[in-house]
Amino acid sequence: MKIAYLGLGIMGRPMAVNLVKAGHEVTVWNRSPKAVDGARTAATPAEAAKGADVVWMCVADTKAVEGVLFGKDGVAESLRPGMIVVDSSTIAPQATLDFAARVRAKGAEFVDAPMTGSKIGAENAQLLFIVGGPEKTVAALDPLFKVLGKKVIRVGETGAGESAKIGMNLMIAAIFEGFAEALALTGKLGVPPEKLIELIENSMIKSGVTDYKASFVLKQDWSPNFPLRLMLKDIRLMQDAAKQVKVKLPALTEIEKVYEKAVEAGHANSDYAATIETVRDL
Ligand code: NAP
Repeated sequence: MKIAYLGLGIMGRPMAVNLVKAGHEVTVWNRSPKAVDGARTAATPAEAAKGADVVWMCVADTKAVEGVLFGKDGVAESLRPGMIVVDSSTIAPQATLDFAARVRAKGAEFVDAPMTGSKIGAENAQLLFIVGGPEKTVAALDPLFKVLGKKVIRVGETGAGESAKIGMNLMIAAIFEGFAEALALTGKLGVPPEKLIELIENSMIKSGVTDYKASFVLKQDWSPNFPLRLMLKDIRLMQDAAKQVKVKLPALTEIEKVYEKAVEAGHANSDYAATIETVRDL
């Protein structure tokens, strides 16, 4: 397929690399110019999208997606009937409905396909895609999902992928906060962190989150796999969505304060695992 891949950050770059490796004809674009071996590089989103079958995006946030799609030299200038726009960024479900309607007004299709699996999952093509959109369009993307990930779950119609994704990240933030608080408490009580982690790994407390993060935590390696600023962005998406549907998220409200303190301490670009330091110093 002819694919335009827009956004070559921690997640986007390995996805674009895997599409090239699978033999697709890929054109990449990134806001600050970047290239991918074996792919053509375009100067603008419009140029990348011209003539593409699929335009796949993975950029930071709702504003970035809006700019890439509808800003100057945006994808919208090159939309044509039959093209599919896929958004793997984590953004506001409500905005997704608006963007999809504007894309469809030009005859193209839109699928929200945020993912989970972080940097290692993207590199090893082990992502789980959390998808919203018409069944037929999602099915047409199956060969590409297979190249990029291990599983696709279609949650429902447009926006449902983003709604479910923020719920998944709410769980990640809450599980990790539990891990951080347990480490802070037991550390002060004299339990070595490697012993607590050994206990977690051998008990019902074991989780994908602790599996992924344990080695980083033991090394105190806060290099970003999932940057803290992006988890805080997602926490705010959860809070906005909760206000819209009148749901209270008391634990998340406390967790948000920890993330704000971590940003004040200079950890915006660290991995969200750096919140361990903030919790320890509260
Ligand atoms: P990242 O490494 O910070 O990359 C962000 C990308 O967005 C970069 O290509 C950046 O371009 C681009 N960007 C930022 N603002 C932009 C703007 N205004 N206009 C155009 N492009 C813009 O982030 P990431 O970890 O790859 O995450 C990308 C998305 O996937 C986010 O929505 C994130 O929440 C989600 N996600 C991340 C993970 C993870 O574990 N990392 C997992 C699941 C989902 P520049 O290079 O020019 O800055």
